[in-house]
Amino acid sequence: MRRKIVAGNWKMNMDLAQTESLIDELTRNMPETVADVMIAPTFTSLYRAFQLLRTHKIEVIGQNMHYEDNGAFTGEISAGMLKSVGVNTVILGHSERRAYFGETDEMLAKKVDTAMKHEMEIVFCFGEELEDRKSGNHFQVVESQLKNALFHFPESAWKNIILAYEPVWAIGTGETASPEQAQEMHKFIRETLAAAYSEELANGISILYGGSVKPGNAGEIFSKPDVDGGLIGGAALKAEDFIAIAKSF
Ligand code: PEP
Repeated sequence: MRRKIVAGNWKMNMDLAQTESLIDELTRNMPETVADVMIAPTFTSLYRAFQLLRTHKIEVIGQNMHYEDNGAFTGEISAGMLKSVGVNTVILGHSERRAYFGETDEMLAKKVDTAMKHEMEIVFCFGEELEDRKSGNHFQVVESQLKNALFHFPESAWKNIILAYEPVWAIGTGETASPEQAQEMHKFIRETLAAAYSEELANGISILYGGSVKPGNAGEIFSKPDVDGGLIGGAALKAEDFIAIAKSF
């Protein structure tokens, strides 16, 4: 059985006190779930989050990192820094990083290399823009995002990769891909992986869906055979909603 995952991306939300309070609510109310649960607080809250969750099943993960190990990169965070505060998993390639901070497939290939070098797990995000879908190019776009950033890895490296298909038009917009659209793309991703690597790899990899997942739609999206969970933005900021989503399997 593939690993099921529900990951909350807090983005640039929640200061230290708010982080403590949300984690308190989550730890008090999160039941045992089929899914592994992860949260990605902002950098300044990571260490505190790690301390609070040290004995809890919820994993604290990073939202981003630089591809260099250290040096003159003002404002950036390295893999080693994340690891030093207990973080072993990092989100890379989020569409907001691509759109607002100029992250390209080439930069992301370097970031995933660095994460691999540090034996970190990667939640790799990708997905088409609205124009790509309207023009029918969405499959091609997704395939090239995956190929450019990840297909230089040997099959053995993929045990550290979790994929997160996030159509850009559905992120933070309230518009969700239909469960059928999500399933269609996730199946395509698996077929692409099977062609490039093997059926075994394709069938073993967890592929999350992200884009306006809420308690009201999570169950139906997660019930699709190729959807293994979700990367959750807005709804991860309310304990009640995030817990309801984590319980949706
Ligand atoms: C995200 O940021 O990864 C995301 C899916 O956001 P939202 O759930 O708010 O659309």
